[in-house]
Amino acid sequence: MPKITLKEILEDANSRKYAVGAFNVVDSHFLEAIVKTAEECSSPVILNIAEVHFPYFNISALSAMIQKRIEQSIIPITLNLDHGLTMENIKIALDCGFSSIMYDGSHLEFEKNIEQTRIVVELCKSYNVSVESELGAVGGAEGGELVGEADPLKYTDIEQAKIFVKETGVDALAVAIGNSHGKYKGEPKLDFDRLKTLNSELGIPLVLHGGSGISEDDFKKAIKFGISKINFFTGMSQAALQTAKEFFDGTQEKYNNYLLMNQKIEKSIKDIVIEQMNIFGSIGRV
Ligand SMILES: [Zn+2]
Repeated sequence: MPKITLKEILEDANSRKYAVGAFNVVDSHFLEAIVKTAEECSSPVILNIAEVHFPYFNISALSAMIQKRIEQSIIPITLNLDHGLTMENIKIALDCGFSSIMYDGSHLEFEKNIEQTRIVVELCKSYNVSVESELGAVGGAEGGELVGEADPLKYTDIEQAKIFVKETGVDALAVAIGNSHGKYKGEPKLDFDRLKTLNSELGIPLVLHGGSGISEDDFKKAIKFGISKINFFTGMSQAALQTAKEFFDGTQEKYNNYLLMNQKIEKSIKDIVIEQMNIFGSIGRV
């Protein structure tokens, strides 16, 4: 199936009140685990590649492999640049065939964020690619510390968000409502009233970043109040590491241990992806 844009994949999620998981791909094992699970579960899925992960792989080779896998697949898939920070890398992603760009100008002053996001939207339009952006500051940092927390002063402002969406024409907006990247320090408390208002005022799908520390109930509530895309990485990365550790504790050396370990890692990622898709309500939606 050809890949589809973020706008297209979120339309159905938004109208039928479920969320599409956006899972980060860092190698062929993550890719296979995520896509296989989505296929087995008849779930739409978003594959994220984060700009901060670019130094860890060859981006054009990895995206060529992903494109191939998407073509072979039987489910709708969006290939999204996660936290695009520089025009240089956004252009690389567009040339590598991404169908969605998340541009993160949330660290900029409000006016500057509008200006930069507009430039990205214009550029992406010429590629027929969707744009997600972020307003307010989600706690922690993408690719930063393992443990983060949210700062209420940086939650998405409702009036600013209305202006931002109107002036930039983005297809989806990542909101800061008490969520945080990485593992949350303590229990996150999401500001559902703010989310409800953002949802009714903005009229575009909303995105929750930092999905690894949020409870099942809170996810479900967030989806009910307008979240259509949920980013998820830390939980998968931790599961993979834990599996590798257990594999090497007490195993005898064999020539194919590395391959066996990767097989187990893939299985552990699959397990966690199924769990999340179940919570997000995306299973059986294809
Ligand atoms: Zn993020």
